[in-house]
Amino acid sequence: MSKEGHRELFEKFCRTKYFDHTTTSKTVSEEKAKKIIDVLNGIERSDVSNSFKFWVIKTKKFALLNYPELKLENVLCLPAKQRNDNDKTVFGHHRIVATAEKFYDILERVHSTKNGHVGYKKTLAEVQRMYEGLPREAAQYFCSTCHICQLKQQQNCTAPLKPIISSGFLTRQIDLIDMRHMPDDSYCYIAHYMDHWSKFHVLWPLINKSAIEVASGLVHKVFPYFGLPKILQSDNGREFVNEVIREILKSWPGEVTNNQW
Ligand SMILES: [Zn+2]
Repeated sequence: MSKEGHRELFEKFCRTKYFDHTTTSKTVSEEKAKKIIDVLNGIERSDVSNSFKFWVIKTKKFALLNYPELKLENVLCLPAKQRNDNDKTVFGHHRIVATAEKFYDILERVHSTKNGHVGYKKTLAEVQRMYEGLPREAAQYFCSTCHICQLKQQQNCTAPLKPIISSGFLTRQIDLIDMRHMPDDSYCYIAHYMDHWSKFHVLWPLINKSAIEVASGLVHKVFPYFGLPKILQSDNGREFVNEVIREILKSWPGEVTNNQW
């Protein structure tokens, strides 16, 4: 599912639950936020009842606050419900009101961009450090339908790496770590080279998992510093078995064990 598909799905979920501006709804829509701001600014409106004013000022205690360090002025805030005094934020005892129309952008920023797809509890805790009014259920739905998290879960189920028992102090191992769920620009894999005896590890990023790229990394980043291993192993090395590696191994002084290496 694309990011736009995810937004559409999430907003469909929110529309039925939160895009509502009645006094009784727990969440605040953009339209309702405008009404609240008008009440706080003392602007008379024909659609504002006394009970609504009472709810804004006395029941909920909405406030318009300034946060000069964040260059924010007259932001609609509420007293924080989930506040831990050891966990002080620039918002002090208040939090910015999260309007229902902004739920997706807030969650996207906190869950995906800032925190690398953490679970919904951590996502929600992080949201609550800044915002008030974003329901737990919305954070849960956002995270459970996030396509990157789904991909990550599928990958975690496939047990990609198999440990290999070392058979001598000259044994080295090369494996690939699949990072497609969290690529860094065009880099989607990490090559992991390990010396079984000294436990020395060498890691480098890969754009794809082609044998040419892996072999080039070994030739340029590993062998010049550590020498050639007598035995090189891999996790049943399906990914590595191909003609380019064989070409490099033709000049190999040691023996090749475990699959076709
Ligand atoms: Zn995610």
